[in-house]
Amino acid sequence: MKISSAALSHPSGRLAQVMSRLHDACARAGRDPGTVELIAVSKTHPASAVADLVGCGQFLFGESRVQEARAKIPLCPGRARWHFIGHLQSNKLRQALPCFECFHGIDSLDLAVQADRVAQELGLHPRVLLQVNVAGESSKFGFRPEALERDLETLLGLRRLQIEGLMTLPPAAPDPERSRPFFRQLRTLRDELAARSGAGLPQLSMGMSGDFQIAVEEGATLVRVGTALFGPRPAKGRGMEISDP
Ligand SMILES: *Cc1c(COP(=O)(O)O)cnc(C)c1O
Repeated sequence: MKISSAALSHPSGRLAQVMSRLHDACARAGRDPGTVELIAVSKTHPASAVADLVGCGQFLFGESRVQEARAKIPLCPGRARWHFIGHLQSNKLRQALPCFECFHGIDSLDLAVQADRVAQELGLHPRVLLQVNVAGESSKFGFRPEALERDLETLLGLRRLQIEGLMTLPPAAPDPERSRPFFRQLRTLRDELAARSGAGLPQLSMGMSGDFQIAVEEGATLVRVGTALFGPRPAKGRGMEISDP
């Protein structure tokens, strides 16, 4: 489907274009589009922008800062569902756990243990994805693959956390093809961990505006798309790994 540039200045046109690219990628990979969920990453954008997309039929949203999300979510339509996609500080767990149905940035055993304890206190069973630093970048949060192999059994023993799969954020690169090996590595790691532990680990959260089609080709079940849906963010909000002050 070709979409005119005029249509792309409207949320409905941008959503239609992203959905069409997502369907194309599914077709290339022989996948059912129903197996991939689009998360609209609304960080830095106002509640009104979320409401626009809800009006177009998009209900799943992602935020990466607890304070921003706590201010925004009550102003958004109640039909919106929320995933936390950023690095979570342990002192924000108590505030964050009740706001989100799934947490993509659980990036250390210590954080997982604390999340389990706070979830117990609050009577919650949060869905969790374990963030993996597949490229081994020192600037990125996440489990190194070998640490995850070592810690998985302990993680799966945390009774309050529903560990559903893995998430990654590959190194920023101008050419989306550069992300492919990292997406493939995440999927392979998931397959190994699932086979070894007997845990299902069905979810792979990977792919953003620049590379979500590649991620879908490599097995993503959740893609996190901000810019392609909402337009550019102010420069300050661009950092991927900035946490709350
Ligand atoms: C901001 C962010 C995204 C969305 O990035 P875009 O390039 O705007 O699509 C996805 N994942 C994470 C973890 C993010 O912080």
